Amino acid sequence: MSWLLGLGLAGLIALVAWRTRLLTAGGALTATLVGASVFGVGGVGASIPLLAFFLSGSLLPRALGRPHKTEQRTAVQVLANGLAPMLCCWGVALYPEQESVFWLGYAASLATAAADTWATEFGVRFSDTAWMVTTGRRAPAGESGAISTQGTLGGMMGALIIAALCTPLTGYGVQTWMITGLGVWGMLLDSLLGATLQARFHCAACGATGEKRVCCGAPAQLTRGVSWINNSTVNLISTLATMGTLLIAWR
Ligand SMILES: [Zn+2]
Repeated sequence: MSWLLGLGLAGLIALVAWRTRLLTAGGALTATLVGASVFGVGGVGASIPLLAFFLSGSLLPRALGRPHKTEQRTAVQVLANGLAPMLCCWGVALYPEQESVFWLGYAASLATAAADTWATEFGVRFSDTAWMVTTGRRAPAGESGAISTQGTLGGMMGALIIAALCTPLTGYGVQTWMITGLGVWGMLLDSLLGATLQARFHCAACGATGEKRVCCGAPAQLTRGVSWINNSTVNLISTLATMGTLLIAWR
């Protein structure tokens, strides 16, 4: 019954997000699956932190005055942040006796996703200088692998808000701070992977460097990282890694 209700509610929100161009059609279908799983297993209590993450990712750029950034999220991008929390919900459904550890994993992976999103938004909006997490060299804020003071503070705030919203699932106590800490750790891991494994391309025609594999109608040259590892892959690895760390550490 709650799964059906979850499917209806998540589908409705995803439909609105698709109509307002926050999600592609595939992104909306995937978000429906994630949302239905979360509501179906955890009800309103589990859905609030998920909604807070989703809305903050969509509204922060507008709230911080970057309304031009209206990238539609694809199915892959939704899964990059949503797979680990969804797996934890399935864990609760399949192993109810392990419920508490799976809710902690849910909170920690969501906190990582939020920290990464908030760090990017706050870094790009408030910071002029950022440094590559690997070499310490200056880099533009918002670039993969670059960290800034403002971005890191924003990320900590994002992780803390998710940890606080998850207290109905996890209880309040040392675990609240552990979830916040794991969220920040996941964010740093995301930066580290972004600076090393994430692919970076250079276009010989226009001189642009970035994450576009094809530029000016031709394949761009790989200058760093692994060609198939992009921002979504890095997000997926860091949310799964945070979840895994918690599930192993808390046992
Ligand atoms: Zn080009």
